[in-house]
Amino acid sequence: TDIQELLLSRIRDVADHPEPGVVFKDITPLLADPAAFTALTDAFAEIATRTGATKVVGLEARGFILGAPVALRAGLGFIPVRKAGKLPGATLSQAYDLEYGSAEIEVHAEDLAAGDRVLIVDDVLATGGTAEASIQLIQRAGARVVGVAVLMELGFLHGRPRLEAALDGAPLESL
Ligand code: 5GP
Repeated sequence: TDIQELLLSRIRDVADHPEPGVVFKDITPLLADPAAFTALTDAFAEIATRTGATKVVGLEARGFILGAPVALRAGLGFIPVRKAGKLPGATLSQAYDLEYGSAEIEVHAEDLAAGDRVLIVDDVLATGGTAEASIQLIQRAGARVVGVAVLMELGFLHGRPRLEAALDGAPLESL
């Protein structure tokens, strides 16, 4: 579609970042273009409305930039999922494996409760490890994940089948 072409035209490939052999998808040109950023926000907000979300969860760090305007556009609260050690209050944490080593993410325990319907927002789905850990974290907080919305997925890393197993029928929408 026209919107997909607009969004794609505002994503830059950066070779050998953050390490040799990796082609990084850089979304900063999209953020700098209000027409593209608005189109993205509107598309994500439509997903939030369609899935009956009551909260938008953004994944650090680009999920914060993309998720916050979606939450406001949809009239919902925004909840940050952060890397371990950043949130000041009582947290729930979830560890997950990386290619080398492991990582841990956290959410404020009081931000989610039974009855909450959460849309997870991030920029890029790669292996799906971050989003999968976020689903587990949100479920452990008692809330339900009604969808994952990303700007783009890197299909060759097979994040989709991994997430679909965790999503239990809820949609994974990649624009
Ligand atoms: P995953 O856990 O799916 O392997 O990695 C996804 C996370 O890493 C996301 O939070 C995403 O922001 C980041 N990420 C991985 N590859 C890229 C990339 O090429 N471009 C951008 N912008 N983010 C990436």
